[in-house]
Amino acid sequence: MMTVYCRGNGHVSDGLCSECSALLEYSRRRLDSCRFGDGKPTCRKCPVHCYMPRYREEIRNVMRYAGSRIIFVHPIAVLRHLLGV
Ligand SMILES: [Zn+2]
Repeated sequence: MMTVYCRGNGHVSDGLCSECSALLEYSRRRLDSCRFGDGKPTCRKCPVHCYMPRYREEIRNVMRYAGSRIIFVHPIAVLRHLLGV
């Protein structure tokens, strides 16, 4: 997901640029620390705000970009659920 976005936007030719890896790391941490775990509601309804507005916006961009390209490979619905969009 992240690599498709990063590469597609020409950040780096391989792997992730520092900005994208920071975003990825951040989202992983937030999901890990979400106290609702697997049973959590969508983030929109979640009383704990997993994503700060800035990151939410960036992650939306990533999803918009990468979602259309790898929809066959990745469960976009899961990400939708996680992000509450
Ligand atoms: Zn990047």
